Amino acid sequence: MKQRKGKLFVVSAPSGAGKTTLCSRLLGNFGTVGYSVSFTTRKPRHDETDTEDYYFISVEEFEAMIERGEFLEWAKVHNNYYGTSRKTVEDILATGKDVLLDIDPKGARQLKNSLDYGIYIFITAPSMEDLKTRLINRRTESEEIMNIRLTNALEEVQHIHEYDYLIVNKEINRAYNDLEAIYIAEHLRAADVEKIEDIMDLN
Ligand code: 5GP
Repeated sequence: MKQRKGKLFVVSAPSGAGKTTLCSRLLGNFGTVGYSVSFTTRKPRHDETDTEDYYFISVEEFEAMIERGEFLEWAKVHNNYYGTSRKTVEDILATGKDVLLDIDPKGARQLKNSLDYGIYIFITAPSMEDLKTRLINRRTESEEIMNIRLTNALEEVQHIHEYDYLIVNKEINRAYNDLEAIYIAEHLRAADVEKIEDIMDLN
């Protein structure tokens, strides 16, 4: 897949780091970013909508999509399949928009190995205790699943150094400002200017 005009932002975070809130805010404030809705075999939570939060599909359907090469990346996370549709990402990039992917570190690594572009952002909470408190307050997971997610969080943070940027979410507004700063700075890259005439009248 060749890079189009839009940029690819890849965001990873352990469960409870506040990633969904931060990404939603960025999407709400910048109409220039499209969210790539992933496919998953996880069951929907009570507040989730099929095709908006995820495409909720069966294991059989997911495995058939793998067979057909329809995923740009996919991974098994917390015992469920999750994957990014190649077509979804291509469709967003074709509109000239940036793409925001919310994927785990295994998926992010696959993209880094297969694409020669992309901006990789890791979001974490300041402590494991913090992640735990947020997961408990969220009340979306059973205790068993929460424990799996917390154990996996310890492994996921080991991959921070594979990312371009790190946001430690101590306070949500501050963390959001960090995310927005990254987004804006990535659009101010001098290297992206093809011709000086595109940005400056030389007459
Ligand atoms: P959740 O079940 O909390 O919505 O997501 C669990 C984990 O799966 C999160 O780390 C999230 O970033 C990751 N995830 C969501 N969609 C994808 C995807 O398409 N690919 C990969 N590799 N991970 C995903």
